[in-house]
Amino acid sequence: MDRCEECGFEYDLTRAPTAGTAIVQAASEVAAVLSDEAADLRTRRQPETWSPIEYGCHLRDVLLVQRERVLTARRVDRPCFEPMGREERVEHDGYAGQDPRDVVRQLTDAAGLFANVLSRLRPEDWERTVTYRYPTTAERSLRWVAVHTVHEVRHHLGDVRRQLS
Ligand SMILES: [Zn+2]
Repeated sequence: MDRCEECGFEYDLTRAPTAGTAIVQAASEVAAVLSDEAADLRTRRQPETWSPIEYGCHLRDVLLVQRERVLTARRVDRPCFEPMGREERVEHDGYAGQDPRDVVRQLTDAAGLFANVLSRLRPEDWERTVTYRYPTTAERSLRWVAVHTVHEVRHHLGDVRRQLS
């Protein structure tokens, strides 16, 4: 089982069927943090570390991309997914200038949209495979894609909480 050294998340693939619920829950916690109007959401604590609003935009985009990837994997055999361009999007989509109220709403919707697609996977669909390019190029099951996405949201929830504590 893979484990994230930084946040301690464990990749337990047997938990994939609960991933949608876990993602909605963790995204709602990120949304709660980003709803604090008194909080400094826009300042980068270090030049190379995203601000809370940038993390929120990143998570929204992750959830939208993952939704499309899972939908693709249902109709295409062994698709290969290019990286989402996590760094480029910060500039291309102007993360730093976005309104936290919009991001909260969009993040919440993105989590619900992705969870809906996961909820419609049949038992055999979870074993469909994709080539995934992060953190290394490897063939992964949709179980892994779902659990990896739970990790993304939880990991960055920790990032924004640390910045605002
Ligand atoms: Zn982690």
